[in-house]
Amino acid sequence: MNQEDRIALLSPPGKAGETPPGPVRYWMQASVRTRYNHALEYAVHLANHRRVPLEVFFALTPDYPMASRRHYQFLLEGLADVQTNLAARGIPFVLYRESPPGAAVRLARESSAIVTDRGYTRIQRQWREEVARSSPCPVVQVETNLVVPVETASSKEEYSAATFRPRIARQRDTFLQPLSPLPYWNNQGPLKPGPPLPQADLFPGDPLEEPFPGGEDRAARELSHFLEERLSRYDELRNVPDRDWTSRMSAYLHFGQISPLEIALKAIDYHEAVLEPGDASGIGTLLEELIVRRELAANYTFYNPRYDSYQGLPQWARATLEEHRGDPRPWTYSLEQLQGAETHDPYWNAAQMQMIRSGRMHGYMRMYWGKKILEWTPDPEEAFNRALILNDTYQLDGRDPNGYAGVAWCFGKHDRPWKERAIFGKIRYMNDRGLERKFREISRYTRRWAP
Ligand SMILES: Cc1cc2nc3c(=O)[nH]c(=O)nc-3n(C[C@H](O)[C@H](O)[C@H](O)COP(=O)(O)OP(=O)(O)OC[C@H]3O[C@@H](n4cnc5c(N)ncnc54)[C@H](O)[C@@H]3O)c2cc1C
Repeated sequence: MNQEDRIALLSPPGKAGETPPGPVRYWMQASVRTRYNHALEYAVHLANHRRVPLEVFFALTPDYPMASRRHYQFLLEGLADVQTNLAARGIPFVLYRESPPGAAVRLARESSAIVTDRGYTRIQRQWREEVARSSPCPVVQVETNLVVPVETASSKEEYSAATFRPRIARQRDTFLQPLSPLPYWNNQGPLKPGPPLPQADLFPGDPLEEPFPGGEDRAARELSHFLEERLSRYDELRNVPDRDWTSRMSAYLHFGQISPLEIALKAIDYHEAVLEPGDASGIGTLLEELIVRRELAANYTFYNPRYDSYQGLPQWARATLEEHRGDPRPWTYSLEQLQGAETHDPYWNAAQMQMIRSGRMHGYMRMYWGKKILEWTPDPEEAFNRALILNDTYQLDGRDPNGYAGVAWCFGKHDRPWKERAIFGKIRYMNDRGLERKFREISRYTRRWAP
């Protein structure tokens, strides 16, 4: 098993040989779960091996970029599950209300090791660098939010899914290995529940009109429902906007409340055990989305330092948009009009309202939504920024590599040049007539989510 690829010693080599006294601490950040968490299991293994106590902590910062009440609510529901599930394994959990790297460095002074999980965005990487630089004890990072670790999958930014897919295909099965929880040596029976966690209403923003509960226990139940009720027709119905037929896993994945490895293994097992052989259930499509597409987004975010900016787009895409910069735009809107779903297009307005009210938008509509922002904004750079701001402000799964790659895809990333046309140049175009042709019941979607 190549699981060693998941583990990296982040602290400078000079510190590696020393083993200062003190507990092992797992700084939980990107993987807010107790199941299928390689970082947690590695921390248990280290504590067992050294016969020292283990503590898991999370540091809650009130000013995570673009996060508002809806995101904190989802996160806090996840932390409540973690607290309960760790207590059942006899592992203490502490929530600190301070800056994550500040807490980790402070605790590193009295720990024999800090173990942490891995994230791909700028802030997540900066935090880990800071902790590795300033901690007197070894800092170990364990990658657990991807099936194939990002640098194992590829050593460079991939051009498209077509170039990335064969790399994943070669390595996927090596990493599709179950992970069982290790018993903790110092488990003295279930712990008493810790102090209550803060309430989400401490954070700015409105609650969701249509709540979407967070947490690993809820994620596991949602996954079972998806497998039992929707996997068999996933291929056929996942793209239909008025049917909510996809897995609904993205927010849980974003907060690390479920592991993509667990989803993949359970979906494969379910497909093999329950569905008819040859059943066109879409297991292949699900794994394509969950592993190839999702991990391509991580590849983009990891290797392209401009992943969240217009400058991160491929040269051909920027060149064609440049040529069409001066094209007349029959419709233009301000960011406020877009935010308020005040456009002439009922499909777009419905998609925007779905996102505002429920923190989610149907996957097919996300593509249409992003393309129209490009069409209706005076210039493409501003369009890119608007799409990202709206996505990250309202989507529960926003501020994620998938969001950066998804927005960039609307502007040509991971895609190829198409037939040239106004405004879009060679960027792939989508229009409302296409929606009407493809989905005869699209009016059900607009009625459901009308402003
Ligand atoms: C403009 C735009 C913005 C987007 N913003 C986000 C975002 O902020 N966060 C986010 O997680 N996804 C984003 N996506 C990708 C995708 O639309 C969502 O992941 C998906 O709709 C989530 O629903 P689901 O979990 O039910 O997906 P399912 O269809 O059930 O797919 C299973 C999982 O595969 C992954 N996946 C599916 N489609 C894609 C894709 N196109 N690219 C990468 N991974 C994918 C997701 O992790 C998803 O949870 C965006 C796409 C576009 C076009």
